[in-house]
Amino acid sequence: MVDALSATYAAGDQSLLFLNRRGYAPLVLCKACGERMTAPDTDSWLVEHRYSGRLVCHLTGFSMPKPAACPHCGAIDSLVSIGPGVERVEEEARTLFPEARIAVFSSDTLWDAREARNLIAAMEQGQIDILVATQAAAKGHNFPNLTLVGVVDADLGLRGGDLRAAERTYQLLAQATGRAGRKDRPGRALLQTYAPEHPVMQALLAQDRDAFTTAELHERDMAGLPPSAAWRL
Ligand SMILES: [Zn+2]
Repeated sequence: MVDALSATYAAGDQSLLFLNRRGYAPLVLCKACGERMTAPDTDSWLVEHRYSGRLVCHLTGFSMPKPAACPHCGAIDSLVSIGPGVERVEEEARTLFPEARIAVFSSDTLWDAREARNLIAAMEQGQIDILVATQAAAKGHNFPNLTLVGVVDADLGLRGGDLRAAERTYQLLAQATGRAGRKDRPGRALLQTYAPEHPVMQALLAQDRDAFTTAELHERDMAGLPPSAAWRL
């Protein structure tokens, strides 16, 4: 993906790096005692946001400043950030391509519709080389010079056991990867996955929506899940 970004940048084209995870890192833990920073009510991991300097629960909205010391063992400067969020992808892109014009499209970095429109306009006018985006930028826009889409951690939506996880992931990634190579320019999309054989990844690779929906409906039917289970009730 870095090679593809490099070649696209050298050609004067635009790239989109897509990661459907807000913030800097999805987990903060203490390297001294192993304590994981969690929300007080839900035990879900607190997501580190570097722009605001806070740890945020994406389920309840609870947030707190990132503490200087571990609240469990008291060790100073022992809290480390684990995993990527969109802010971390931006940081890495800036390190790899210090000369490139890089922008972030995320609900945490755009405060209103006007800012979002301005960023879209800058992208359309070729003033951005690499756009790092969450779900917010996945659909509805046509960037003629965007010839590369890189999906970071494409498996993200497949975890969690939600009935519609595969369906939603397929929709989202089909929209995101569909940004590359519009109009008369050929483009390509790269997906980072640990599960290349998964029906979602195979359908995206084949650009075959019907194959995916057929397979997904069959899976649900075999498991007695909606919509087929609803028909039997
Ligand atoms: Zn600790």
